[in-house]
Amino acid sequence: MNITNELVTEYINGFYRPMTSELGELRDEAEAAKVPIILRETESFLNFITATVRPRKILEIGTAVGYSAQVFAMCGAEVVTIEKDEKMAQTAAHNIEKSPFAEKIKILVGDGEDIIRENFKIGLDCFDLVFIDAAKSHYKRFLDAALPLCKSGSLIISDNVLLKAATASDSYDPSGRFKTNIKNMRRYIEYIYSHPQLQTTVIACGDGLALSRCI
Ligand code: SAH
Ligand code: MG
Repeated sequence: MNITNELVTEYINGFYRPMTSELGELRDEAEAAKVPIILRETESFLNFITATVRPRKILEIGTAVGYSAQVFAMCGAEVVTIEKDEKMAQTAAHNIEKSPFAEKIKILVGDGEDIIRENFKIGLDCFDLVFIDAAKSHYKRFLDAALPLCKSGSLIISDNVLLKAATASDSYDPSGRFKTNIKNMRRYIEYIYSHPQLQTTVIACGDGLALSRCI
């Protein structure tokens, strides 16, 4: 289920242009292989945000084939991206090596939370933007690990928080297959809306984005 009206999304995406022909090809490949990369409207929105906010350091959880990492690197930021699946990380490394962003993107392999806790020191490492786009039941773990590495004004953006509308209503998950993800995502949204260190808003862009600003 699309979280927005299909004709409206189609209309908006009519204005979408790939940032480079290589990224256009990578999108086509990823979509054909059913790798869940950021949707076109999400990409446009993230580009707008990075162009406006000008983050210098970005942390991403969930690399997949390295598509969104390259979109982030396009704004000139240094990107650290974490991927649990070794094969996926290898594919991403291959894609990034042949891109103009090889120097800008570092891939770390392992669980998002573990890697954050092992590799970064609170008070020493700091990110201006964190993009959470990995295991949908584990967003809270990723956020709790990343938050101490943020400063006032840092942005934490969580993707797919509306889970194809099922976060809003169980009727969009009639078989109950995604029950656990849905329950955890609802809890996560409540958590970030009520978190004293965050100002949060959820927008119906792509598959739902939660925008949290560190206070
Ligand atoms: N951000 C990418 C898409 C990521 S898809 C893009 O838009 O281009 C989600 C990825 O998260 C998958 O590749 C999956 O292997 C990875 N993943 C799943 N659980 C994870 C975890 N616990 N830690 C880190 N990565 C994880
Ligand atoms: Mg996503």
